[in-house]
Amino acid sequence: MTTLEKIVSFAKRRGFIGPSSEMYGGFESSYDYGFLGAELKNNVKKAWWKSMVQLKENIVGLDSAILMSPKIWQASGHLTAGFADPLVECKKCHHRFRKDYLKENKCPDCGGELTEEKKFNLMMKTFIGPVEDEAAVTYLRAETCQGIYMNYEFIKDSMRLKIPFGIAQVGKAFRNEITPRYFIFKTREFEQMEMQYFVSPEEKEKDKWFEFWKEERMNWYLSLGIKKENLRFKEHEKDELAHYAKKAVDIEYKFPWGWGEIEGIHDRGDWDLSNHSKHSGKDLSYFDDSPSGERKKFIPHIIETSGGVERNFLAFLCDAYEEVEGGRTKTTEAAKETEVVLKFHKDLASIKIAVLPLLKNKKELVKKAREVYNLIKPHFMSQYDEAGTIGRRYRRQDEIGTPFAITIDFDSLKQDDLTIRDRDSMRQERVKIEKLVDYFCSLLK
Ligand code: ATP
Repeated sequence: MTTLEKIVSFAKRRGFIGPSSEMYGGFESSYDYGFLGAELKNNVKKAWWKSMVQLKENIVGLDSAILMSPKIWQASGHLTAGFADPLVECKKCHHRFRKDYLKENKCPDCGGELTEEKKFNLMMKTFIGPVEDEAAVTYLRAETCQGIYMNYEFIKDSMRLKIPFGIAQVGKAFRNEITPRYFIFKTREFEQMEMQYFVSPEEKEKDKWFEFWKEERMNWYLSLGIKKENLRFKEHEKDELAHYAKKAVDIEYKFPWGWGEIEGIHDRGDWDLSNHSKHSGKDLSYFDDSPSGERKKFIPHIIETSGGVERNFLAFLCDAYEEVEGGRTKTTEAAKETEVVLKFHKDLASIKIAVLPLLKNKKELVKKAREVYNLIKPHFMSQYDEAGTIGRRYRRQDEIGTPFAITIDFDSLKQDDLTIRDRDSMRQERVKIEKLVDYFCSLLK
């Protein structure tokens, strides 16, 4: 079983994720993504956008502001008790904890007595403009969906959408979590991939769309290679529901420390649009004028899918991570060492193709390999590597999850072809250079 410590140190060593502000001793569970991490993160978002926007005729995308009117958060209920966690403090060492995370009523750090619990609001406060007074207070958004509600009419009218339809958005969200934990699983700054699906109250009642999105989202994780046994649904009990939710189910992944939520599917009822109508004075009701419709006005109900980019990232990384005892690549002198392979789905892999000349001290091989690299890099994220033995280089690419490695050898010079090695099967195939781009287009696009 892979431990979280192993994943954290691997992510740092191979340049996926490192601690933020390290020169100054790090900063409050913030993390930075290196090149491979940034690529992987982008690929998670791209795969989500493709499945939720590009392939869905009635869902469109949006990119709304992080800084918005504080009145939004008043109306949404985020400034009141609904969006607060129970905070306790140790009377002895003054460390603070989220009460519902504690197993006992004593401080887990020093055994000291704890204070009574207080409700701690999770909104991140900031000031707009040069004067730091109450009038200038606003908040970093705690969920991206409020931006979707603000733009509901703008998008519906400009894109001429008819119910049921969806609006999707990917972006940063901020929560002043009392106890960030488990690496990038719970942090104060994170990204969400959210889609709000607007439906009629009648269809909502039948749970048709709630069930549809539950299955759809679970299938997305499976289609990107997460093992079935590592995923499950978890229904929320009535007393666990968020202040806006009528019904909720989480998709959970089996992380090294146990099951954890990676995405929520929520029936938000008409809470959001009703509240914003009431507080802003703008009527957000929808008039159903379709020939089959009932020609009546209603406030749309919302089914939401809300996933976290970092939690997805961590789940994909943990699931892809494999250690092979005794080695796979027999060509290396270090064949007895344990080898790491990241079995990423090709859509997620940070680097799609590695280009490797067999030897770096043969000018003709290097020249040919560089030509091949230049040929494919406009189409696919590729990497050229000539340092070390070919076996070592295969291992380096296996370790970061590159699905294909190309080798240019002496026959390549005579035949204008090369070998392509598949990461998982390690099978090699010879392909003509002139066919290379088409070959990869059929496999990678
Ligand atoms: P949890 O109870 O695990 O903190 P939540 O129920 O508050 O999560 P939601 O409000 O449903 O989470 O947010 C939707 C998604 O946003 C979550 O499934 C998760 O992937 C992501 N998310 C929420 N809070 C955080 C956080 N602090 N750090 C990283 N991702 C987060």
